[in-house]
Amino acid sequence: PPPQHSMADLFEASARRVPERDAIRYFDEAISYARLEDLASRFAAALVERGVGKGDRVAIFTQNNPQFLIAQYGAWKRGAIAVPLNPMFKHRELDYHLNDSGAKALVCLEGLYREVAGEVVPGTRVEHVFTTSELDLLPEGAGYANLAGARKLRPEGTEDLLEVLETTPPDGGARERVSPEDIAYLVYTSGTTGPPKGAVETHSNVAYNAEVYRTWMRMGDEDSVLGVAPLFHITGLVGHGALAALAGIPLVLFHRFDPSEALRLIEKWRPTMTVGSITVFIALMNAPDAAGRDLSSLKKCYSGGAPIAPSITEQFEEKFGIYIHNIYGLTESNSPTHAVPYGSRAPVDEKSGALSVGVPVPGCEARLVSLEDPSEEVPVGEQGEFAARGPMIFREYWNKPEETERAFHEGYFLTGDVAVMDQEGWFYIVDRKKDMINVSGYKVWPREVEDVLYTHPAVKEAAVVGAPDPYRGETVVAFVALKEGQRIPEEDLVSYCRERMAAYKYPRRIEFLEEVPKTATGKFLRRELRERAQSPQRTA
Ligand code: ATP
Repeated sequence: PPPQHSMADLFEASARRVPERDAIRYFDEAISYARLEDLASRFAAALVERGVGKGDRVAIFTQNNPQFLIAQYGAWKRGAIAVPLNPMFKHRELDYHLNDSGAKALVCLEGLYREVAGEVVPGTRVEHVFTTSELDLLPEGAGYANLAGARKLRPEGTEDLLEVLETTPPDGGARERVSPEDIAYLVYTSGTTGPPKGAVETHSNVAYNAEVYRTWMRMGDEDSVLGVAPLFHITGLVGHGALAALAGIPLVLFHRFDPSEALRLIEKWRPTMTVGSITVFIALMNAPDAAGRDLSSLKKCYSGGAPIAPSITEQFEEKFGIYIHNIYGLTESNSPTHAVPYGSRAPVDEKSGALSVGVPVPGCEARLVSLEDPSEEVPVGEQGEFAARGPMIFREYWNKPEETERAFHEGYFLTGDVAVMDQEGWFYIVDRKKDMINVSGYKVWPREVEDVLYTHPAVKEAAVVGAPDPYRGETVVAFVALKEGQRIPEEDLVSYCRERMAAYKYPRRIEFLEEVPKTATGKFLRRELRERAQSPQRTA
């Protein structure tokens, strides 16, 4: 059944149950549930004083800082809607998101205000800006490598968040009734298919999948979460924030992902669970100081958001003794619809070589439908588009009725992902429908080619895209980053692939890069790579 409580209720219940326990571990500092609750309730009172209330949008433009959660819980206490924004946004993107959401208030890092938001805000409906520094809530003089260059300097025309929290008395629990059907978030899709769309996620949607994480990963009082995914993304929002709040357990945050800082904090705080994109795990393995590090606490290790090459999980297990479980979901499903149950191992599909994303989580109704006609279900063992229904599926796209209409068929959300299910019920994501490469009419799925590239010991990262070709329609191009100190001629890596796959699939061209460009969530920027593949700039 869908949850009976809002995330605001669930967070407060944890604050009452375990007030002394750490809610956030920000670098080396701890903030208890009681303190976080107090700060959030002060922020709620400050919003009310400024006329921000039920249904208003509060945009949050920070990295993974405690202020993100203070702002979110404060907004929720008053029935306001949190709008998490990607801190990598430049002027045009921020302008679009603030205007599309119609945000009335903005919580922003000082640096981001100086560089981006300061010029954008006057052209929007934002009436109140609270700024804060990543150094706030840390002791004076604390030095962390990934905060290098950070300084405190409150921009003119904004209110200092910490000062507001200090001077506003907490609301004393007097708050708006927030129902599970009220909106918790607008989470924007990254816009690979058109202008970004705000997915309307209700409290019930978020609470439901937080509960799925908790039960699926058997999270109890002794667990804690390492925040490697950005908080503005659905993985961070639900798999870090909502999960920790629901379970009443600590969440480790460190501004932005950095492998060396992550390794240090794993050893210090010994978190037991994490979920992030596979590039996070690749970065941990290849960190210069990775050798001999103790990651043994991190047993509940999950990778989602992008395909995992089976050879990567093997390398990670060899190096750290930890098995990476696969998990699959989307912004529109508040993350997991499928996951490998904790303690199980994902099988590999013999035909496509894909590592299973697991089995449907409780409450997820999964259908595979024909790519041509979504009314037609495909039989077991055949490829189809994955369509999902259940309490975790978002309500609609914000102010975009036509897009909402197109996204659903017979009450099922069409994910745009091609999948196969085996006899035992394991799911395999073949790839995204739109990433398919068409070589002389043959379908090539980038994931399969990438999986083969990853089996080569010199390869650190591999991303495959299609490029226009006058004879074949499209041709397969790979972008590869090699491990430190490794070299291999392009022809040799091409032949390595040729020996391992059908002739139409192997990459005709491989471009070596220092690093494959990624989004803030660690996914490869395929759109950028496709453009690059059209106009090759050879680097090797
Ligand atoms: P957009 O939807 O705008 O293209 P996005 O990729 O950032 O942006 P998300 O909702 O973050 O959207 O990601 C969901 C997609 O990520 C899925 O549709 C799927 O293609 C891919 N994905 C997620 N988990 C996995 C997984 N375990 N294996 C393979 N692919 C995955």
